[in-house]
Amino acid sequence: MTPDTRPLILWFRRDLRLDDNPMLAAAAATGRPVIPVFIADEAVTDLGAAARWRMGEAVGAFARALDEAGSRLILRRGRAEGVLRGLIAETGAGGVWWTRTYDPAARARDGALKTALKKDGHEARSFAGHTLAEPWEVATKDGGPFRVYSPFFKALDGKGVAPPVPAPERLTNPAGWPGSEDLRNWRLGAAMQRGEPIVASHARIGEAAAQARLARFLSGAIETYRADRDFPARDAVSGLSENLTYGEISPRRIWHAALAVEAAHPGHAGALHFRKELAWRDFAHHLMYHTPHILTDNWRPEWDGFPWQGDSDSAERWRRAMTGEPFVDAGLRQMYVTGTMHNRVRMIVASYLTKHLMTHWKIGMDWFADCLTDWDPASNAMGWQWVAGSGPDAAPYFRIFNPATQAEKFDETKAYRKKFIAELSSAPGPEALAYFDAVPRSWALSPDQPYPAPLVDLAFGRQRALAAYEGRARA
Ligand code: FAD
Repeated sequence: MTPDTRPLILWFRRDLRLDDNPMLAAAAATGRPVIPVFIADEAVTDLGAAARWRMGEAVGAFARALDEAGSRLILRRGRAEGVLRGLIAETGAGGVWWTRTYDPAARARDGALKTALKKDGHEARSFAGHTLAEPWEVATKDGGPFRVYSPFFKALDGKGVAPPVPAPERLTNPAGWPGSEDLRNWRLGAAMQRGEPIVASHARIGEAAAQARLARFLSGAIETYRADRDFPARDAVSGLSENLTYGEISPRRIWHAALAVEAAHPGHAGALHFRKELAWRDFAHHLMYHTPHILTDNWRPEWDGFPWQGDSDSAERWRRAMTGEPFVDAGLRQMYVTGTMHNRVRMIVASYLTKHLMTHWKIGMDWFADCLTDWDPASNAMGWQWVAGSGPDAAPYFRIFNPATQAEKFDETKAYRKKFIAELSSAPGPEALAYFDAVPRSWALSPDQPYPAPLVDLAFGRQRALAAYEGRARA
């Protein structure tokens, strides 16, 4: 049988890297010409403002990396199936390969595409690469999905994570390249308005930046990760979530780097704890795959009767980081200025919205989706439902974070609050002032205005939430 020499279209989505990219490695191993493609379909154009901008930056960085590797990234816009069929016709490609993602919309799109392409005699293959393990590979003794994190981690760790594969040494080019659009014309950052350069100054974009970030973490903060990771003013976490979101680094690469630390230093608490946190990301994808309603509805239906409030002036004050509760506002401003928020503070701002303000978790989840450069549908939904109490393995509803005591514990010196709240400092720093340059002018915010009084008395808010919870429990 003569070997197939027709080009392969490699449809990149959230795997924008050369290293540990099983699809790319497998394609390179065939020796066939490869045509890397990125499509701005609705999965891209429907992203929140910050995530859409950051996706554009990730695509730009990946296109440059492919150029340096002697290849190219072809950019097209439109519905994926139509674009891919067009490219097959233009290039005589034998088929399309891609790396799987697990949100319901992507699964529906990819499943239909696979069926349609195969029906017409084209190759259509999907690969692992977005998570440590495929969502169906980690299963309970009965073969079912996990609903609780600790046994999930035990099963994942026990099963083992496949080792990463190196970047291909060589990619074969097609005889001629199909035309490509200009990324600048997509204007993926348009909705960021004046916040774009501010958030951009905090982002670490592309595969090389992600690898450097991992190396820096491994040579420093991993030592004290377990003890320090809850203190937002400390440089104690990896910051890799924004890179993982676009696949600029693979979770397997990170996992095995931490495992190597544990092998060199048996009992290394920082490295083990770091792997456990990384596994939360997989747990979120596992939940999204097996129970996709986690993205849209209370994961526990018994919460459906809870008197969550809809959008309101209070929710708007929360979004504008003007609640008068400094730890909450600092977190929300950190997100607006940097595109990310420290994990401890994400829990506190989410608890404040869903409990002290009794506002539906979906309102907070949507705001995060608009503002986070590390937005991930699975981790965001799991995080919000975990805090709200409506999710799997969730914090019990009556455990209500008190932002003031949390601040005393985790921001004792006020360094974090002062860094992001100009009104609390006589000489505000650049991040604190940047907030006022980043927000829409229509909000009419100024650092010279006095800091607002608290939106709600913390004791009152707590009692109101508990009363609603107890009422629901009795109902
Ligand atoms: P590190 O502490 O260095 O951890 C390493 C990696 O482990 C992270 O990059 C991340 O991939 C993973 N990880 C750590 N903690 C969690 C967690 N609780 N859940 C899932 N994965 C975790 N994470 C996102 O990536 N995107 C989101 O949209 C997102 N939304 C969230 C919303 C809420 C309400 C909450 C409470 C958490 C959310 N998280 C989200 C999880 C977590 O806050 C971030 O992953 C973390 O802050 C990223 O910082 P890091 O990379 O420095 O983390």
